[in-house]
Amino acid sequence: MNEQFDPDTLAIRAGIERSQFNEHSEALYLTSSFVFENAAKAAARFSGEEEGNVYARFTNPTVSAMQTRLAALEGAEACIATASGMSAILSLAMALLQSGDHVVASDGLFGATQQLFGNILSKFGIETSFVRATDLGAYRDALRPRTRLFFIETPSNPLTEIVDIAGVAAVAHEAGAILAVDNCFCTPALQRPLELGADVVVHSATKYLDGQGRVLGGAVAGRKAVTDEVLKFLRTAGPTLSPFNAWVILKGLETLRLRMEAQSANALELARWLERQPGVSRVYYPGLPSHPQHELAMRQQKSGGAIVSFEVEGGREAAWRVVDATRVISITANLGDTKTTITHPATTTHGRITPEARTAAGISEGLLRVAVGLESVADLKADLARGLRG
Ligand SMILES: *Cc1c(COP(=O)(O)O)cnc(C)c1O
Repeated sequence: MNEQFDPDTLAIRAGIERSQFNEHSEALYLTSSFVFENAAKAAARFSGEEEGNVYARFTNPTVSAMQTRLAALEGAEACIATASGMSAILSLAMALLQSGDHVVASDGLFGATQQLFGNILSKFGIETSFVRATDLGAYRDALRPRTRLFFIETPSNPLTEIVDIAGVAAVAHEAGAILAVDNCFCTPALQRPLELGADVVVHSATKYLDGQGRVLGGAVAGRKAVTDEVLKFLRTAGPTLSPFNAWVILKGLETLRLRMEAQSANALELARWLERQPGVSRVYYPGLPSHPQHELAMRQQKSGGAIVSFEVEGGREAAWRVVDATRVISITANLGDTKTTITHPATTTHGRITPEARTAAGISEGLLRVAVGLESVADLKADLARGLRG
């Protein structure tokens, strides 16, 4: 149904295949295997001669429904769901790369993604060059004869730096490589990387796609030639999404655009307010004209998104005071929830890197990241004002 309908309709309707009971809401198929009418049917299913479900390590109807719906929203040919965001990235790498291949990745990637490329895949002869995310020339300079994959994340966490998706796509394609974009922060509701030239999108569905902090999940969406390779890895290695989690995420997709727009609007209001607060030295939010890449952000995203970072004067002590004075906002590193969260990156998400690397990455002791949810902005302002005034 992808061609005929608006994404708002696809978010609600794509992927529905009713059972013989004609249920209205999407069914949850909690089953690990599927039965066959007879031995010949079993043989045909196993050989792939006949399409259909065999075993839930590779397909399950609820997981398939979620994959179809997310593919429709990203404008992708196909989608493969995985157990988590990290397993989506691992599965993509295992599907596309082999020993001797080279990856160019933007710096400032999600911490576990940096570890995966920098410390784990490197053990198997896959080398990654991390380049300055916002410097298009650096991507070109990092090219090697065996560069197969470009991997970027935009906006970045926590400084909300924007990577020029179309620009990196051009560099990647000139080199005959594939561009993968981690679209976790914007989701297809705000940014459609495939339309900007990316070949494949990866997701941590744990974040906004679920949207209420309940389950882990991930996905790879893009050209079928790529997702078919991902499926081959997944059916053998097994980082499969559970049907229950798929069902939660499937239902989350129905409200995705409304949540993203409302959370972005809250974030913009909070960011504007933070810019005016004494004691706040800098606000990082792509929706603000003061963001150094505001124009690029507004070109490739529908809004600034729901993550706001800011620096308080007075270093760690002042930052922790803001965190500890909150009564509404949750002190947790997770994001993408209707509940607003606050984290001090220097001592949590970025606590394990050396102080020098942290400074180089722009993560100061006074930096705080707020993932804005759906509460009243007035209550969120009051929650932060308490610690800022202290
Ligand atoms: C959380 C996150 C991941 C990893 O996802 P999990 O579901 O936690 O495995 C990857 N990329 C980004 C940008 C994230 O925020």
